[in-house]
Amino acid sequence: MFCGLTGIVWLHRKIQDAFFLVVGSRTCAHLIQSAAGVMIFAEPRFATAIIDERDLAGLADANDELDRVVARLLERRPEIRLLFLVGSCPSEVIKLDLSRAAFRLSQRFSPGIRVLNYSGSGIETTFTQGEDACLAALVPAMAASIDRALLVVGCLADVVEDQFSRLFAALGIGPVRFLPPRHAAELPPVGPGTFFLLAQPFLADTARALEARGATRIAAPFPLGAEGTSLWLQAAAAAWKIDAARFDAVTAAGRDRASRAVSKCREELAGKRVFLFPDSQLEIPLARFLSREMSMELVEVGTPYLHREHLAEELALLPPGTALSEGQHVENQLDRCRRARPDITVCGLGLANPLEAEGLTTKWSIELLFTPIQGYDQAGDLAELFARPLVRRGLLAV
Ligand code: SF4
Repeated sequence: MFCGLTGIVWLHRKIQDAFFLVVGSRTCAHLIQSAAGVMIFAEPRFATAIIDERDLAGLADANDELDRVVARLLERRPEIRLLFLVGSCPSEVIKLDLSRAAFRLSQRFSPGIRVLNYSGSGIETTFTQGEDACLAALVPAMAASIDRALLVVGCLADVVEDQFSRLFAALGIGPVRFLPPRHAAELPPVGPGTFFLLAQPFLADTARALEARGATRIAAPFPLGAEGTSLWLQAAAAAWKIDAARFDAVTAAGRDRASRAVSKCREELAGKRVFLFPDSQLEIPLARFLSREMSMELVEVGTPYLHREHLAEELALLPPGTALSEGQHVENQLDRCRRARPDITVCGLGLANPLEAEGLTTKWSIELLFTPIQGYDQAGDLAELFARPLVRRGLLAV
């Protein structure tokens, strides 16, 4: 299983002047290094401050050591504007108070550099919660504003963000801002005039923090597939009272491109049975896309957590009687999956290899976070992620 540190892989690419300093063990360093696949000589914007035996035995003052590491890092990397101290299982076990450390270091290095903290630990969390914790940590640092604005919340690839920006502009919705921003100085303001659209279904803490600042969530399905993207944009258009004719005119070309792109994979996927293990928290929007746009049959849709409010619009679109399961009772789910023998199983890496060895075709759920899949122009890629393993299995069959 991956832990919340994994989010650093896509977050550090997004916020271009942020640095993620994991306060953890060698295991954490290996995980993040191999997940990101970036060579050290490429000067990545993440690193691990290793907690070693001396720290664990209480022989060294971990806070003094951390201050020294941070001072050295900031001296060597003057381009850093935002530093995240990222907690891990080891830092939580030794109860290292990273919020106090972030406050202390922020005072020392402000105004040029802001230091924040969040937890990426794998204790009782799923790997997408790292992004939620990171974005929630940004909310208190957002300036207050009463102006009406749309805030898109959740990490999106730049290319996807640009496509959405163009669509919102053509619809006459604005100003539109994104959380996280591409640069620390562009952290958007928030307040009673802010209406936010979640771009990812795993941002419960961030949404709560924004609501506490007076912002209002626009309820919508998530922008996966032609239908999901249209409904997501339509929810914003309704909040801005954009008339239906304008909406249709602006989105027609995108909808058409998306429908044509996904139809190429429909032949491969239609009628196939899919089983989703709980892993990424994307499972319910994915299940909706696979059943409604790809005509797949849902055997079981597992999700680590079911946020009934944020997912209400998605749940309403699932076929009646869909088997949903919340939580990770892996042994029971494995039994059900083996009995059902689905055509494709969406799961974490830890389950994929054993299931492949048993003759099942799998899709790694983490790929859905590493690949741009939101929006009209990515709908075809999303469909292909599911079609490819089936095509490969067909080619390998004797
Ligand atoms: S934070 Fe915990 S689960 Fe994640 S790599 Fe470090 S020790 Fe492992």
